[in-house]
Amino acid sequence: MADLQAIVEEIHEKLTPRLGEGKVADYIPQLAHVDPKKFGMTIVTVDGEVHKVGDCDEPFSIQSVSKVFTLTLALGKHGETTWNRVGREPSGSAFNSIVQLEHEEGKPRNPFINAGAIAVSDLVLAGHTPREAIGEIVRFVRYLADDDTIAIDPEVAKSEQATGFRNFALANFMRSFNKLDHPVEHVLGVYFHHCALAMTCTQLAKSALFLAASGRNPLTGHTVVSKQRARRINALMLTCGHYDGSGDFAYRVGLPGKSGVGGGIMAVAPGKASVAVWSPGLNHNGNSLIGSLALEMLATRTGWSVFGQ
Ligand code: GLU
Repeated sequence: MADLQAIVEEIHEKLTPRLGEGKVADYIPQLAHVDPKKFGMTIVTVDGEVHKVGDCDEPFSIQSVSKVFTLTLALGKHGETTWNRVGREPSGSAFNSIVQLEHEEGKPRNPFINAGAIAVSDLVLAGHTPREAIGEIVRFVRYLADDDTIAIDPEVAKSEQATGFRNFALANFMRSFNKLDHPVEHVLGVYFHHCALAMTCTQLAKSALFLAASGRNPLTGHTVVSKQRARRINALMLTCGHYDGSGDFAYRVGLPGKSGVGGGIMAVAPGKASVAVWSPGLNHNGNSLIGSLALEMLATRTGWSVFGQ
């Protein structure tokens, strides 16, 4: 295998002069305080090797990357009936768009746009109080990463709760179509808290390893999901993981991945490794600008694209 440590160091070195490019998300006030020059990257291979560089062990707000974990939980609880509530087609519109939702009568296009993830939070809430559902999500992510130190940043959750008017609009709109089972405040309480999970690149890469290894985390030996489900979650990440920039990410990187407005991207090279990268400046689609470039460089250097070498 290629010398992955040398590759991540080379990527870091090449991108260092560009750190700070892109625009840090400031519509969630707490995120605006992050240093735009941060950069971290961790690769965990299916054989358990860890290669990392930069600020890879500093926690950041994972935001929408968490939508992969809540989808996995919802599928575990509800199986295929999950798809009665949320579709699995790319949206081609912005992460927080309300336009499609009206045409599609409150059924969001996919689980990774905000409306879709709000529908998934509603499914995770089934049989729980919001506090229990949030606890279940945190325990699940700790189990995936095999790390009990992972926690939610309460300041970020509060900041989003205070300013998430558009998410309230999306949730109320779905509720008006009878597409939510629980009160809007409860559903959004769960949604804002899982988006506020703080994780490092290393924790994030470890928590995605089951998706690179047919559903089983080779580091812990835990079977998280079936092979088929792992494949399908990867398919959704590839087609929908970067909002209206998903096509461009597939073209340039060619790996299933999920981004968040905190500047994190989690990506999966099936059979090989999971990767997490963090750089807070975003491109016009709300995806990490330097993070996408780092993954493009990694895919080029390793030949890891799912579309061929
Ligand atoms: N919590 C963010 C929001 O709802 C997530 C968006 C993202 O990371 O893309 O606006």
